Amino acid sequence: MANLKLSHIYKVYDNGHKAVNDFCIDIADREFIVFVGPSGCGKSTTLRMIAGLETITAGDLFIGDTLVNDMEPKDRDIAMVFQSYALYPHMSVYENMAFGLRNRKMPEPEIKERVLKAAKMLDIEEYLERKPKEMSGGQRQRVALGRALVRDPKVFLLDEPLSNLDAKLRAAMRTEITALHKSLKTTFIYVTHDQVEAMTMGTRIVVMKLGYVQQIDTPMNLYNEPYNKFVAGFIGTPQMNFFDVKLKRQGDTVSVIFTNGDKVTVPYEKVSKIHSHYLNGDTPVIFGIRPEHISLSKEGPGLKFIVTNVERLGNETNVHGKLGDHLGEFTMKDEGNGIIVKVVDRDDIAVGDVVYATPNPNKVHFFDSETEITLMNKIPPYNTLQAVSDGRSLEILGTRIALPAVYKEALGNAASVELSVPPAAIVPGSEYQLKVSRIEKADDKNLAYLACGDSYLFALVDDSVREGDLYNFSLLYDKLTVFAGGKEILTPVPDEVELLGRFSKTEVKENGDRVLHFFYNIGDYSLEADPQQGYKINAIDGDSCYKNTYKYSVSRDAIRLAGEEEGAGLKANVKELLDYGNVRFARVEADGQEFLIRIAPDFNADKVRVAFDSKDVSVYSTRIDMKLC
Ligand code: ADP
Repeated sequence: MANLKLSHIYKVYDNGHKAVNDFCIDIADREFIVFVGPSGCGKSTTLRMIAGLETITAGDLFIGDTLVNDMEPKDRDIAMVFQSYALYPHMSVYENMAFGLRNRKMPEPEIKERVLKAAKMLDIEEYLERKPKEMSGGQRQRVALGRALVRDPKVFLLDEPLSNLDAKLRAAMRTEITALHKSLKTTFIYVTHDQVEAMTMGTRIVVMKLGYVQQIDTPMNLYNEPYNKFVAGFIGTPQMNFFDVKLKRQGDTVSVIFTNGDKVTVPYEKVSKIHSHYLNGDTPVIFGIRPEHISLSKEGPGLKFIVTNVERLGNETNVHGKLGDHLGEFTMKDEGNGIIVKVVDRDDIAVGDVVYATPNPNKVHFFDSETEITLMNKIPPYNTLQAVSDGRSLEILGTRIALPAVYKEALGNAASVELSVPPAAIVPGSEYQLKVSRIEKADDKNLAYLACGDSYLFALVDDSVREGDLYNFSLLYDKLTVFAGGKEILTPVPDEVELLGRFSKTEVKENGDRVLHFFYNIGDYSLEADPQQGYKINAIDGDSCYKNTYKYSVSRDAIRLAGEEEGAGLKANVKELLDYGNVRFARVEADGQEFLIRIAPDFNADKVRVAFDSKDVSVYSTRIDMKLC
């Protein structure tokens, strides 16, 4: 039994191919985790790194509380089952299962006991004397499972174990492996490219694409709340329908307008988390709806389409069709505008019929047409507020506040501005007041719908806030994006300060031993690195680490200021002071690099030393996009 932690894991193969990028997951004891994605997305590479069959380029892998990056596979207490079974052809089933235990010098009676127990669990007791070639694919896969089982490992790793089996056997083995997981009470990590396997077996699923994790979630959350179009299309058969549309809000309803001019409507309440920018009737949006979430009728209203194919699967029927273009209407040769509808217990639909489709408004999905990321995030990434400036004050939500100095400078003569406000920039305070219409749980946070004109302002609130309350709040002005005349004139102050620097070592004798000390060098600031981090950078980049430039990132909260004469730190010249009302920063320059540091209200100096602890520093490669530690 074991939990696992993968922290910022990367794999760059010797040929420079980056197969796995920034893979992070905490796997609890006894979970059944499935890695799924198309061929080549990095599933097996990740599994093999966990097994110790592939080196980890960067990142930390923990099994239990032990960092195992450099631990031999045999010491990791894991067992792996391969797609190819990897059985020894000249050995009997018994010998195949006993082989690993004999290598570990386990006493024969215990080996026998374990093999017989595993054989019983897998229902292969009768075949123990057979050779693998005398067995079917399904039986061989059981032997491969048995060989893993006898080792009683903490973690089972399974790499496409069922892909050589026929469909019927695969379905049966799926159930068996799930049952095995339940009875063993062990952690399973399972790789497959088959979304049905993933959905039926996993307690959680990691969907991957091109080396990047797309979403980690339970099967039902992946199905109901896909993070992007890729996940939406990957999970579910037949696949989700996608259409290029525009959305136009009129009061309580939103029209979904197709390229051919056809429309369906959904209540605004169902899509109120979609930012108003997408609801203006002009912004291209991708509409997604699963085949099982569309109803069909022979008369309108609905999306008119012609049936081009009917797949009867017994009680379910997949009706394929094409939406009309309203010029040639249904000239079957048009590309695009295909639609699939899944209907149950209907045999009255035939090829050539013209029918009408109505999407279920509770099951609609919308994605940004460029990023393909959902527009229906559980927590909307930002709100928009209109504000009016008179040069001295800013009116927002009917309240006037003194114009923060930074805003004043950026605005110039602009009177009308738009503020992009992330929910986290709305904090308890006394500047504004809105009524809480609704509160819902989202990712363990309380998301409040604050009634704001005919839409909502979304804020994160604590447990004391109730529906119906008047919520008093302020805005963190340094966290907003400000637009004037359609142009971005102010961007948020990031939470991290990023500095370029070098890496060095010194070797000293301590009690007769040679000891290495590593340093982050930024300008004249030489910060001794945490030894573990230092060794890690050296291990990843080899001796070129002393020639490379690194990006050192440190949380702004972790930065200390020291007077010019006091202590160590990066000497910096103050270029300007920035007053955001709620918080002040100094723009400083050091080693040719400019950055912002937070300052106290009474700060007044033209030179400072900037200091931080090495344990607060994250180090990134500047050669490839990779976090080293
Ligand atoms: P999956 O298991 O999802 O099919 P893999 O993890 O096997 O994908 O491979 C991920 C990517 O890494 C693929 O593009 C593959 O071609 C590449 N790759 C795998 N092994 C090596 C290797 N030894 N050297 C270079 N590239 C590799």
